[in-house]
Parts: sequence; C-alpha cells; structure tokens
Amino acid sequence: MLMSIKNVRKRFGDLEVLKNVHMDIDKGDVVVILGPSGSGKTTFLRCLNFLERADAGEMDFAGMEIDLSHPSKKEIATVRQKTAFVFQGYNLFANKTVLENVTLGLVTGRGMKRQEAEELAKKALEKVGMADRLDYYPAQLSGGQQQRVGIARAIAVRPDVILFDEPTSALDPELVGEVLKVMRDLANDGTTMIVVTHEMKFARDVASHVIFMDGGVIVEEGTSEEIFEHPQEERTKKFLHRVL
Ligand code: ADP
Repeated sequence: MLMSIKNVRKRFGDLEVLKNVHMDIDKGDVVVILGPSGSGKTTFLRCLNFLERADAGEMDFAGMEIDLSHPSKKEIATVRQKTAFVFQGYNLFANKTVLENVTLGLVTGRGMKRQEAEELAKKALEKVGMADRLDYYPAQLSGGQQQRVGIARAIAVRPDVILFDEPTSALDPELVGEVLKVMRDLANDGTTMIVVTHEMKFARDVASHVIFMDGGVIVEEGTSEEIFEHPQEERTKKFLHRVL
C-alpha cells in the first residue's frame, strides 16, 4: 500500500464537511472521487497535503503514521515532497515564464541545481506538449495550455502521487480534451493519481477505483465497472442518472 488514509473528519464552523472518510491507494492506481458539489471532495484532497487541516484522521505514508490533525513539520515537509497538487485555477506565477514556473519548485523546494532542474522541467513540458512554449508567460497561453504547464510542474518533481483538484472545471469546453489527454497519458504510464473531477467519461475509462461521496461520507466505492455499470446505492444511481 502506497498510502492509507482513515477516519478523516473536518468541519467549517457548524458545517460538518467530512464525516469519516478513508482511502487506500496502491502504486499505479488512479482513484477518481465523484460526487455532487459541496460533498467535500476538494476539502478531502486538500486535507491530504495540509492545504487544509483535518480535525481528525490518520495517514500511513512513506513509512510514517501521521495524525492529520497534528502533523509535525517534518511530516508536512515529507508529504509535500512526495506529492504534487494540480489546482483548478492552475496557480502559475504570472511574472514567470513557462520554464521558470516548472523549474522553480525543483530549485527552491527540492534544492536542485538550476541546470539539472531546467533539464527535468523541459522533459516534463515535453510530456505535456508544451516544449515549444518555454519562454511564454501564462497570460500568453490558453487555459488548457496553462493547465498543462500546471501538470508539468507536478510531474517534474517526480512525486509518488499527484492530486488533481477538478483540473478541467475552469476551462472552456473546447480546451478540456487536451488536458484530459495528458492525464490519460500519465495514467497509462503508471502515474499514481487521485482525481476529483466531473468528467464522467474520463472517470469511467481511466479510474482503477471510484469513490462516490455525498454529504461528507463515502456512499459507495468500487471499480469503474462496479460504480458505473452496477451501482448499488440509491444516491449513486441518482447522481449518475443526472450526470450521464
Ligand atoms: P466539493 O469539492 O465536493 O464541491 P468542497 O470540499 O469544496 O466540496 O466543499 C464542501 C463544503 O464545505 C461546501 O459546503 C463548502 O461551501 C464548504 N467549504 C469549503 N471550504 C470552506 C472554507 N474554507 N470555509 C468554509 N466553508 C468551506
């Protein structure tokens, strides 16, 4: 098991957003988290690398047993080192070029020499089809291109697992396909991924494991076939009926 997560709870004030969420992930898995808006998917993902602090929860990862509500600095640093996060809104530095955006984390976060970092960054940018835009600034790129740079930044650090938070939901419909294609390629290469998405075809085709969340709980989980072809729970059926 690469990563095992148990008993995650989180509230914002009176709102109980996560009520006891768990997840196991093996190397090479593509776990897709589905569910209606507001069901806690993004919050769960953010709790995993401490962008959000859980109220309770345990994570077994990289030989550590981490209390998600009270992680040590070293645990936070290790988790951040071994994971990468792809944001809905890309989160690129506007005043830095494509190459600089991907290189930066390798130099400052991983202490790599600039030349070595640039070589890795270029390889990552090649993978996402952005090698011909190294000197462009984010504003000179389409949303789909910016998100591909965001993905290059994630793969450049060679993480154990990449967390995708609705990576295509800010994109114009005609730009979604190019980003999903990059994600499919990564999955086919054996990249371990946790993906929050509303892209049902992607989920159906690519997921090794599907988690359906509603109201802060996992209502149902299983293989792509189990969830999409033979859902057992009424809430899952209703959701799929609505979105498919
Ligand atoms: P999903 O990703 O499934 O759409 P979220 O995890 O984004 O759900 O949100 C779950 C619930 O938590 C929503 O009701 C949302 O409004 C609320 N929420 C998320 N982040 C915050 C925050 N920082 N402060 C207060 N409420 C929040």
